[in-house]
Amino acid sequence: MLGNAKDHYTVLGIHRTATQEQIKRAYYALSRLIHPDKKKATAVDTDKPTLEFHQLSIAWEVLGNPARRQDYDRAMSAERNRDRGVVQDTVDLDDMEEEEEGFSYPCRCSGRYIIKESDMEAGRDIAPCSDCSLKIQVLFDIVSDDEETRDN
Ligand SMILES: [Zn+2]
Repeated sequence: MLGNAKDHYTVLGIHRTATQEQIKRAYYALSRLIHPDKKKATAVDTDKPTLEFHQLSIAWEVLGNPARRQDYDRAMSAERNRDRGVVQDTVDLDDMEEEEEGFSYPCRCSGRYIIKESDMEAGRDIAPCSDCSLKIQVLFDIVSDDEETRDN
């Protein structure tokens, strides 16, 4: 359960679509502000609520690592959708059947859930059934166009 805890993106004050670089910058900026060793009693302009350094470290551990971030994104979004009753189920793309323009998965109504490749490219992961009102969430890896660049 992710429960009421602030999610890692909120902790870092960034959007879910932030790049790894933006995540890194947000982390370093915040850790400079709130790190116990570096905090300056004078120079804290706080419209920002108090943030635990611990919380920030965890957020960074997860979001700073692309693989862990992806797992976290999946878990978070799947849980949110299930809680809201938005989706009937979550299905891994690998379990779906490849179609001409996308992928499909059998619905219990004997219709099929369908997701198009263009939907996935646009970041959508909800596949509606062709015959009824049910929907599933499709879990897939986001393939980024740009090569992973690491600055060392
Ligand atoms: Zn259906």
